[in-house]
Amino acid sequence: MKFLVVDDSPTMRRIVNNALGRIGYDDVVEAEDGKDALAKLVVEEVDFIITDWNMPNMTGLEFTKAVRSHPEFHEMPILMVTTRSMKEDVFEALQARVNNYITKPFTPQVLKEKIEQILQTA
Ligand SMILES: [Mg+2]
Repeated sequence: MKFLVVDDSPTMRRIVNNALGRIGYDDVVEAEDGKDALAKLVVEEVDFIITDWNMPNMTGLEFTKAVRSHPEFHEMPILMVTTRSMKEDVFEALQARVNNYITKPFTPQVLKEKIEQILQTA
């Protein structure tokens, strides 16, 4: 299973990448914003997207909307990882049809549970 990890912070990308490795997923492609992620989505055989919200050029929310309206990728599992935890923010993310939502900081165990939840319902 190949993951696309989207975050403008290289440190955060490394944290997510390491957490994925610890729970047994080591096929990971990284992108630095939504725009970069859309370009990689088209050329890489991605199975699962983990995206930040706040990013330059194209935010995670805009990226999610673009993926959902794409004919080929509209059912792609999307987990949003963000510091935004206000109720309104969670609602907006779910409206944009992310599959699930996780707030920073998180443990590899929580990441694992969220991924498995999404895969079970996908
Ligand atoms: Mg960010």
